[in-house]
Amino acid sequence: MKVLVIGGAGYVGSHTVRKLVRSGHEVVVYDNLSRGHRPSVPEGIFVKGELSDREALQRVLVQYGIDAVMHFAAFALVGESVAQPAMYYQNNVSAPLELLEAMRAEKVWRIVFSSTTATYGQPETIPIAESTPQFPINPYGFTKLVFEHALSDYAHAYGFGCAALRYFNAAGASPDGDIGEDHDPESHLIPLVLQTALGQRERIGIFGGDYPTPDGTCIRDYIHVDDLADAHLKALDLLEPSSNLQLNLGTGSGQSVKQIIEACRRITGHPIPTTIEQRRPGDPAELVADSSLAQRVLGWTPRYTDINDIVATAWQWHRSHPRGYAS
Ligand code: UDP
Repeated sequence: MKVLVIGGAGYVGSHTVRKLVRSGHEVVVYDNLSRGHRPSVPEGIFVKGELSDREALQRVLVQYGIDAVMHFAAFALVGESVAQPAMYYQNNVSAPLELLEAMRAEKVWRIVFSSTTATYGQPETIPIAESTPQFPINPYGFTKLVFEHALSDYAHAYGFGCAALRYFNAAGASPDGDIGEDHDPESHLIPLVLQTALGQRERIGIFGGDYPTPDGTCIRDYIHVDDLADAHLKALDLLEPSSNLQLNLGTGSGQSVKQIIEACRRITGHPIPTTIEQRRPGDPAELVADSSLAQRVLGWTPRYTDINDIVATAWQWHRSHPRGYAS
């Protein structure tokens, strides 16, 4: 297919672009480079543009004869969303509604959307299935949920074929070390721990050591970015008019912050000093996916099930790109 990848220069987007190209799809990346990196997408056609620019999107849909859209271009930092909700509602709700309207005008009906575990908020039961009630607890989670609803409504009323893929914690990097995670500022656990191993940070602060978990630190489900990318390709193949899929993407296995740091010590051979700090507001104790529905529907199984292997790919990237794409 001819696939327009909005936000294709970001972390999950760039890994998906690679897989799309290598699977024989024709790819047009559309990104404003506000948070993405041009060097992360050497393959495919690149168009610099805004998600809010409906006319520009319509031109691209027509010019390249686009069959399907993948939308990765959301802001994704919980703390930022609390401090600047206007920015989140603008970029994560208002702007992508322009995308949907551009698609509707040009009769492009397939869309795969990056959604998130943050749409579930603080669920009472673990693992989290798609039937778990969605009660977000921050603007980020709300904006993603609103857009999920927009997709469902467009599927129902206009025949869009939609898949909202709810990621748990995206992690790792392409195993050849060419592309990986590069956020500025970095706020995610594994990159920060690996930056400590590289000597770029003195220590890693653990946000809370008194959670009701076996070692007192938060548990998350870390899913390899290439496994996420694979799920996108499989979802794309499944879309039919009026498809309305919502699927959890995780491994089903939880790792605590301390277990992640231990894995990073094993892989890097660095002692990685730590301190226990205050809890980060809004962090649930445990988020682990039940992704059996995604496995059944997509015929997808995560290939990276060992956290050591996930960390090893991230380490390969950070070691060879100590300043990210600026290296
Ligand atoms: N975390 C931490 N120290 C840090 C960054 C993150 O202890 O410097 C913890 C955070 O509280 C959470 C887990 O690591 O429990 C994963 O956080 P991250 O920001 O990577 O992803 P999130 O779960 O927020 O999507």
